[in-house]
Formats: sequence, C-alpha cells, structure tokens
Amino acid sequence: MKFKRIVIKVGSAVLSENGEISKERILNIVSLIAELKSSGAEVVLVSSGAVSAGYTKVKLDKSVLANRQALASIGQQYLMSIYHKKFEKFGINIAQVLMIENDFDSKKRSKNAKRTVEVLLKNGIVPIVNENDTVAIEELTFGDNDQLSAHSTLLFGGEILIILSDIDGYYDKNPKEFSDAKILKFVDKIEEKELLQEVSPNNEFATGGIVTKLKSAHFLQKNGIPMFLTSGFNLEHLRNFLFQNRFEKGTLFKI
Ligand code: ADP
Repeated sequence: MKFKRIVIKVGSAVLSENGEISKERILNIVSLIAELKSSGAEVVLVSSGAVSAGYTKVKLDKSVLANRQALASIGQQYLMSIYHKKFEKFGINIAQVLMIENDFDSKKRSKNAKRTVEVLLKNGIVPIVNENDTVAIEELTFGDNDQLSAHSTLLFGGEILIILSDIDGYYDKNPKEFSDAKILKFVDKIEEKELLQEVSPNNEFATGGIVTKLKSAHFLQKNGIPMFLTSGFNLEHLRNFLFQNRFEKGTLFKI
C-alpha cells in the first residue's frame, strides 16, 4: 500500500437506497477499510447520510432548516450505530468527530482536532467525521461533505482523498443528461469556469453535486494532495487502484 494515511468520503446517494440506509453498502465500505488497515494504512472516514438516516425515523419537513438540523442529530447517532455494528465484525473501534467550517479556521480548535485524531489513528481507531449540523448555522457550514473531507484531508495529514460517489468519475459533461459524456481519467488542473457551474446534486439528500467535488480537488491540488473520485457502488475499482495499482475507472485529480 503506497498510501500510509487515507481519507475516504462517502456521499448520501451511496449510503441510502429507496429511502433506507443501505447496510449492505456500508458493510462493503467497512470491509474495504478493514482490508486497508490490515495492509498497514490508517483511514479517516468522512460520512454523509445523517439527515437521510434521520428521515428514515421521523418524517420532518426537510425544506425547513431547523428540521434538517434535527434530522441530522437523530440520524447521526443511528448512522454511527450502524457503523459500530459493521466495524465490530472486524474488531475495529470507531470514534465520532463532528466539525464545522469555523473549526478549520480556528488555529486552536483545528490543532486540538488534529491532536485528537492523531491519538485515535495511533490507537488503530477509525475516526468518522461529519459536519456538526446541530450547532452549525448556515453561514458557518461547508454545507457539503466534499469540502469538509478536503479540509479534513489536509488537517489530518491524509496522503490522498478518496470520494465515493454515485457517479464513477468526472465527465466532460453531466452523464445523467448527455449519453455521449466521456469520463476524464486524469485531471491536472481545474479551470475557474468549472468551479462556477451550477450545483447539481443527484439525490434528494445530496447537497454538493459535481461542483463541490471539483472545489475539493482544486483545494487539495493547491496543497499538493491528490484526490480520486470513483464509484461507491462498485468498490472493485477502488480496491484495484489502491491494492494493485491498477487504474480501471474513476478520475484522478493529480498533483
Ligand atoms: P454524492 O451524494 O455522492 O456527493 P452528488 O449527487 O452530490 O453525489 O454528486 C454527483 C452527481 O453530480 C452525479 O450523479 C451527476 O448527476 C452530477 N454531475 C453533474 N455534472 C457532472 C459531471 N461533469 N461529471 C460527473 N457527474 C456530474
């Protein structure tokens, strides 16, 4: 394994299926993380899905901000309980790390978070990061876990960010709209105009769409860290990329 510390972000679309949290997909991701850990890598997981997990329990009107925050706090612990059960099968302990955008700007708080995560990783624990939606007011949130995961990768010393999405890479145009869209295997540089595209999430719980993924890649490239965008449904692509150094499908935002 060429990466010693990896940050993996999984999106809402991957975690939910037909209005339910997909325990099978969670197990697949957890099992891959267990393999990575066995091969000596340290892994930080950034997981979306709290609001959609909350909504499986209580059907609050999601168009109201306070309701979304309440759903996040209901769903966060439910989601963590699922992760707990799955990681337990592999004898791996997990920890919950809730952050808001402001925490990354504060020298003191970011230093504390970094120190805590360092202790967790040194003790073989998998930190699971999410945005602290209960306390975050809209102006202080990233609003999407793509950018939260990019900032976490830099802060926690990740050597690469893996984004597991419902899409298997970055295309030259939206593949959901254009059947002739072509996947871009390598991206060296992201143009300003690509960052200004309209936000286009694909799922009722998704918040980012492709633009926030590009912003994340742009931020990381500036900081000398690569990002790999690939499918969260078929983890073979990621497995081959990480373990066999075989690049089948996905987009590598190079440095
Ligand atoms: P996630 O929940 O995994 O973060 P999102 O729905 O927020 O997923 O973002 C991925 C979606 O972005 C894709 O399913 C696709 O519909 C949309 N999209 C728009 N333009 C592109 C593009 N050029 N390449 C890939 N995906 C795109």
